[in-house]
Amino acid sequence: MKYETEREQLSNYLAGMGLKHTKQRDVILTTFLDSADHVSAEQLYQKVRKKAPSIGYTTVYRTLKLLVDAGLAQERRFDDGLTRYETEHAHHDHLVCLECGKIIEFNSKLIEDTQAKIAIEYDFKVLHHRHELYGHCSDCHKKDDSA
Ligand SMILES: [Zn+2]
Ligand SMILES: [Zn+2]
Repeated sequence: MKYETEREQLSNYLAGMGLKHTKQRDVILTTFLDSADHVSAEQLYQKVRKKAPSIGYTTVYRTLKLLVDAGLAQERRFDDGLTRYETEHAHHDHLVCLECGKIIEFNSKLIEDTQAKIAIEYDFKVLHHRHELYGHCSDCHKKDDSA
């Protein structure tokens, strides 16, 4: 079955909370896993609605919070104020296009290593960090240039 590990992880988490893994929660989970990363609650709701029109926005929103608590999703808040969700995957940072809203993931060993050195220098114990570069993506700045 598709997403068996994720389903089990959610079931275990819900059981621990005394909650049931309902059919609705299952639809929301699989739709989320099928979605591209950095989806907002509203965007996910629009996708869920196509499969199961009876599921309301509040249910989608609450279930997303449960997915975060269960360690299946990560919440991301960029400067545009919209909260987005992505699947839990290897550490990465983001380039955010202020024109079209595109979000690109990157991972730089050089940046990570430099950060580690800075932390040592200041005897600072880093728990997590976030790099967000804001600007115009390749498609959007090409438009700027031609204008
Ligand atoms: Zn763009
Ligand atoms: Zn990401």
